[in-house]
Amino acid sequence: MILPPATLGMLGGGQLGRFFVAAAHEMGYQVWVLDPDPHSPAGRIADRHLVAAYEDHAALDQLTAECAAVSTEFENVPAGTLDYLAKFIPVHPAAAAVAVCQNRIAEKTFLADNGLPHGPFAAIRSDEDIAAASAGLFPGVLKVARFGYDGKGQARVASREEALAAFHQFRREACVLEKLLPLDYEVSVVLARSESGELRAFPSGENQHRNGILDVTIAPARAGACLADEAQEVAGRIAEKLSYVGTLGVEFFVSRGELVVNEMAPRPHNSGHHTLDACMSSQYDQQVRALCGLPLGEARQHSAAVMVNLLGELWYEGGHAEGRYREPDWSVLHAVPGLRLHLYGKHHARPGRKMGHFTVVGDDSAAVLERAMAARAAIG
Ligand code: ADP
Ligand code: MG
Repeated sequence: MILPPATLGMLGGGQLGRFFVAAAHEMGYQVWVLDPDPHSPAGRIADRHLVAAYEDHAALDQLTAECAAVSTEFENVPAGTLDYLAKFIPVHPAAAAVAVCQNRIAEKTFLADNGLPHGPFAAIRSDEDIAAASAGLFPGVLKVARFGYDGKGQARVASREEALAAFHQFRREACVLEKLLPLDYEVSVVLARSESGELRAFPSGENQHRNGILDVTIAPARAGACLADEAQEVAGRIAEKLSYVGTLGVEFFVSRGELVVNEMAPRPHNSGHHTLDACMSSQYDQQVRALCGLPLGEARQHSAAVMVNLLGELWYEGGHAEGRYREPDWSVLHAVPGLRLHLYGKHHARPGRKMGHFTVVGDDSAAVLERAMAARAAIG
């Protein structure tokens, strides 16, 4: 067991890392963050911010010299970096699990190989792969295998010709072609797994996206309880098959009443932010606990919750980039009962950039949803 005042390492300095730093601090640990961005949200509150590339061996050596263990908040950390660090100190999640989650081809192949529910897809590495793809995949979505997020690196394609054009636009980078599924709704499960195999899943949340970016999470999901349970069970099987240690997010589609895994995130997940305010332990507490070999905390949700993301356009009058730049009037949100505002301290707001979120909690889930939607309308 790693106990305070030990120092922990965090690869990545975004908002997920920032909440990890806060959780670790609360528990008495110190945290060093590695992120090349000198203004990274986590770096600003870390005990030490190493401003360096993820492959910078001098920085990695500093981390291993100072830290008792390392985790990540950023799935695109090079697997080589995780492997290198693991020669010296515990690294959770491990390189092998991160490698599966950071590449859509590896991810879908993992699901298929393990009999886990997934949608029809084809790996696309060449023009020939598109020519050979099943006609049943159209209309579809072409997604770059690596580095896509928030709907970036994706194109909806109605036909083989459109898929080819999109593939060329993506500079023939490796892609997956997925069938476009009719979505009843989307759910996600965030869970934690410890090295001893202990598993704690938070209740499934229901996710609504806008322009490919998560907009609202309703937790627990309003959907039929049986599918929410099934989602938890499938997410648990994924964690076990990956020998996963840490906090894992699994996104699902429900299409024509059937549960399908969309993608996995080897880190806390945006749809788990409400665990900060509505659960006995947050997804970040669990990440600290799993990393340090502590018993996992209780995942029980004590209040109904609705989380709303706050994107950069909110900083522009009228909600678009031509509008005047100004700070939103936060007093509007602070007046809402049961609302907690979280701002990430990012340097500059850009449209589409995740700048913060708020969570409304309460006893009555319908009233919580209504208050959250009213609060969102009021802030713009
Ligand atoms: P990201 O890494 O950007 O989150 P996702 O693969 O999760 O990428 O896609 C973002 C969103 O786009 C999904 O949450 C869903 O709303 C929609 N989407 C993606 N793939 C499909 C699909 N095959 N069928 C229907 N909708 C999809
Ligand atoms: Mg997604």
